[in-house]
Amino acid sequence: MEINFKRYGLYLIRWQLSTPILAGVLALLGGLGALAATIIANLIGGLIFFWVDRFIFTSESLAAQWEVKEEVRCVDCGKVARGYRLVKAENYDKTRDPAPEFRCEECSKRKSEELRRKGIKF
Ligand SMILES: [Zn+2]
Repeated sequence: MEINFKRYGLYLIRWQLSTPILAGVLALLGGLGALAATIIANLIGGLIFFWVDRFIFTSESLAAQWEVKEEVRCVDCGKVARGYRLVKAENYDKTRDPAPEFRCEECSKRKSEELRRKGIKF
């Protein structure tokens, strides 16, 4: 299984966001008893997080994938350094590129701007 760390990170943050809801509802409705208040808190959380989770797991804007390789020659400046390449974005797919091009950090930033100008979203 391939893990998308952007999605994973957002998912972990989203779990933390459910904490204040639980705490808040328990504080407000604690009089109903912990069990009833927790059931209500989870109902509220479910109503909100259904949509948040759906975004986290299906949004194409989070699908950008980068490949990082150590000690690789930059195709632009020829420097041997840590190389980066955009593999996949919403409207960009180089997953089957027979000759993947890696760029050093500096050249990668320049190339990223160029791709953004062309309308690639990542
Ligand atoms: Zn370079």
